[in-house]
Amino acid sequence: MTKEEALLFLKEKRKTMNVLNSVISMVYWDMEVVAPIESIEHWGEILGYLSAQYHQLTTDTRIEEALEVLAVSIQELDQYEKRLVEIFSDLYQQNKKIPESLKRDLSMAIAVGKKYWKKAKEAGDYEIFKPHLKRIIDLLQQQAEFVGYQGHIYNALLDDYEKGMTVEVLDGVFATLKVGLLNLLEEVMNDKHLVMDPPKGPFPKEMQEELIYFMLDKMGYRFREAGRVDEVEHPFTISLGPKDVRVTTHYYEDTIESALFSSMHEGGHAIYEQNMPHEQAEYGINVAPSTGIHESQSRFYENIIGRSYSCWHAFYKDLQKIIPAYQGVSLEEFYQMVNDVVPSLIRTEADEVTYSLHIIIRYEIEKLMISGEIGVDEIPALWNEKYKEYLGVEPKNDSEGVLQDVHWADGMIGYFPSYALGNLYGAQFYHQMKKDIPDVMETVAAGDLSVVFNWLKENVHSHGNLYKPGELVEYVTGEPLNPNYYLDYLREKYLNRKPAITMRIAKG
Ligand SMILES: [Zn+2]
Repeated sequence: MTKEEALLFLKEKRKTMNVLNSVISMVYWDMEVVAPIESIEHWGEILGYLSAQYHQLTTDTRIEEALEVLAVSIQELDQYEKRLVEIFSDLYQQNKKIPESLKRDLSMAIAVGKKYWKKAKEAGDYEIFKPHLKRIIDLLQQQAEFVGYQGHIYNALLDDYEKGMTVEVLDGVFATLKVGLLNLLEEVMNDKHLVMDPPKGPFPKEMQEELIYFMLDKMGYRFREAGRVDEVEHPFTISLGPKDVRVTTHYYEDTIESALFSSMHEGGHAIYEQNMPHEQAEYGINVAPSTGIHESQSRFYENIIGRSYSCWHAFYKDLQKIIPAYQGVSLEEFYQMVNDVVPSLIRTEADEVTYSLHIIIRYEIEKLMISGEIGVDEIPALWNEKYKEYLGVEPKNDSEGVLQDVHWADGMIGYFPSYALGNLYGAQFYHQMKKDIPDVMETVAAGDLSVVFNWLKENVHSHGNLYKPGELVEYVTGEPLNPNYYLDYLREKYLNRKPAITMRIAKG
């Protein structure tokens, strides 16, 4: 194989992977959204077959041959070609190091584990899930040993979700974050205002749909020409290709907040996918560098924009027109309502101030369980202890405690930090955005979200996976990940409950 042949081989391989990926995503979307209940098993088998085909593509031994050829002339390659080589090396190494039997055992343990996790959660009884969690932890420990790691064993798992991130870095980042959040939480709770209860509805689905379409349009998500919005139980976003990025949402009759903010969240993911460098798809860079970076974009639209005073200064009258029950709620009251801080047991319902504390609790426990410092017997008590210490709340049973998330049953130990990192990356991008465009929030308050869209597109979206997560943050903001931007953002927002933007706008 010559250098040119090797490059061509990898690019062709990537194109085939992209095609298969689109088909897999299509089947997955169909199963989640429209497939009739009796067809699920049939489609499940097809999905299994397609995933095996995809896996085969990535373990082709000729990849190794091509990588060896290109390793010799790596200095002659351009930035895209180098990244192509790097992405394939990671993938190939990863796949080669883990024995097939271990992969099979792990997927079996996950399938069984999820079944028992569901049963355990329904019964509120951790004991039902415990032996299966132990099995999953054992297998992930084995996997980490095969893959190899430096420092803490957790690094091997973390690397799957946040390339280049380590316990050594994260411990420092989360330590600053934890102290900052605990102090802020105490201040906010000491100075808590009475927040009005939101209107109870009922809010028909069609009414909520109109509101969501209105906001998604303003954000710049092209769902009519190049996407879709459908209803499911648990909302997600999926890319079926460059011109087909679909979001899902869930409508609750008694509240508009859930569908509104989760749609803006998914819309943030969708805009990212639509703005990827699709013309360079053959280099494998038309994806996000990590789940944390992806999450930074969804949370940007959900919280930094969607829960800002500026956003509703612009659009609250439209919301009131679409949802008449809000005509009795002032803009100020609405702003306080959607930014109410309440320490709670459930991560997915947490506000901006407490959310990352839920993640830090999981991170601290995951490190101990994967290193073997604590056994599965000790997890629920430790969980409850940490909730009491950090958030001042205690689960009544395991369902609202240690069993609330599916991630561990899904074999996704090492994933949780990505959620908190999403908040941190987002705030650091926001800081840079305000440096570049000082009046960005005034523009938002005037009803124009295109400045936000364009800045994110140019600085984050269009790079795709050209940089690793840490490199991207440094490239865009000129410094490594710094949790103080998130803390500053929260302090300014939550300790200054009368937003400054009101005054500026009032003066013209
Ligand atoms: Zn998300």
